[in-house]
Amino acid sequence: MARKVLVLTSGGLDSILTLKIMEKAGLDVIGLHFVTWFNIPKYKLLNDIADGCYIYKGFQINYIDISKEYTDILLSPSYGYGSAVNPCIDCKILFFKKAKSLMDSFGADFIATGEVLGQRPMTQKLSIMKMIENRSDLTGYLLRPLSAKLLDPTIPEKLQWVNRDDLYGISGRGRKKQMELASDLGIAEYPSPAGGCILTEKQFKVRFKDLVSHTSSINIEDLSILRYGRHFRLSTDCKLVIGRNQKENEVLERILWGNIKIDTMNIPGPFSTMEWPGKISLLKMAFNIIARYSDYCGAPEHIQFRIKYNNQEKTIIYRGTPDEILSESKIIR
Ligand code: SF4
Repeated sequence: MARKVLVLTSGGLDSILTLKIMEKAGLDVIGLHFVTWFNIPKYKLLNDIADGCYIYKGFQINYIDISKEYTDILLSPSYGYGSAVNPCIDCKILFFKKAKSLMDSFGADFIATGEVLGQRPMTQKLSIMKMIENRSDLTGYLLRPLSAKLLDPTIPEKLQWVNRDDLYGISGRGRKKQMELASDLGIAEYPSPAGGCILTEKQFKVRFKDLVSHTSSINIEDLSILRYGRHFRLSTDCKLVIGRNQKENEVLERILWGNIKIDTMNIPGPFSTMEWPGKISLLKMAFNIIARYSDYCGAPEHIQFRIKYNNQEKTIIYRGTPDEILSESKIIR
């Protein structure tokens, strides 16, 4: 009977290749995709992605939400952050430990990933790869088929569950060899390289730092909203988020963040959500900022705002002057 491999997938080309290589090597292949608030498709919220089994490129891929565990390591990574707030080493260890804990329930004999030696500076140097593997209690049971020929033989190879000749020796940051391999394996369509992980982005770092310096107990919604809108810090306990386009407006309307939702009624304008401590001066400040991003020309016109607060909906007529409409100095980039 074929041995079973649990392949950690991200949906990118390296993952697809790994699934295919393992299948071609005669293994019983199951995919595993860990879902968190930051790696789901744009304009989706975690509630839109159910745990479960999906078919991708003909493979069974199991989606498992690990947002809670991920939030813990993001807020306090043992190995620190990369250039932004990317806790890459802790991230890998979490994924691998979680995968290991699921091996029995999937009946898997070992784990495979699409990692490529030398592709990423923080986690794919040989010494770091070994350390992560050991810290994940997977020593010998973690196969990287794309780079396996450059690495020590794993237990699946030693026990001949996998023939080393069926594996590859790819290293480095380029994609050319993977694209050639895709062609050899008959993979015609695959995603173009993703924009990368949002945790590595400088703008996200600024928003994240603002969040941790103003919030004592951070939840998944606090983090999820960092992906969307323009962010304004109005006071230590008041933050306003304004949608930048229709899709963001829809996300801000649905997300369970903010105790007040604000919409413009008589002119086209963005949808906004805000953590509001109840001060009228802050609400007025928010109206001024929202006016700046709507089709508003100042007095003598007025804006009708619809607000939802405490399960009640109210309409407020607001008259601001252009002078009152604030500069962007309070924006959190
Ligand atoms: S880039 Fe993002 S997803 Fe990749 S290892 Fe780092 S934190 Fe994790």
